[in-house]
Amino acid sequence: MSIPEPEITPVNQAHWQGLREGRLLIQRCAACGHHWLPAREDCPNCLSAGGDWVEASGKGRLVSWVVYHTAFNKAFAGRVPYCVAIVELAEGARAITNIVNWRDGLKADQPVELAIEEEDGITLARFRAV
Ligand SMILES: [Zn+2]
Repeated sequence: MSIPEPEITPVNQAHWQGLREGRLLIQRCAACGHHWLPAREDCPNCLSAGGDWVEASGKGRLVSWVVYHTAFNKAFAGRVPYCVAIVELAEGARAITNIVNWRDGLKADQPVELAIEEEDGITLARFRAV
């Protein structure tokens, strides 16, 4: 069973295209400078319309994580246990993602770096603890 496909919309299309090109694109508010993920039409900080696409540095820190030992979706049954984490990018945006090397041990605030991976034809922004 393949993993669930993301719903590509006009609002988030640039993000998914960027990943296929090896870049993590996030939105930046022209009015207040706030960066965010996932894609949306209005700035979550000041509600200004729009958001310019900018390439994230790929650097960040581990905010929190959990290791799933149960597959709540059948598509993930073959991967348990696996790690789901909140990563705060250097630009300030937070992403819900996977840590690819979580078995090596994780610490809160640990530095992480982008690790783009392809699975079932879908390019995903995962992270590696460093
Ligand atoms: Zn804003």
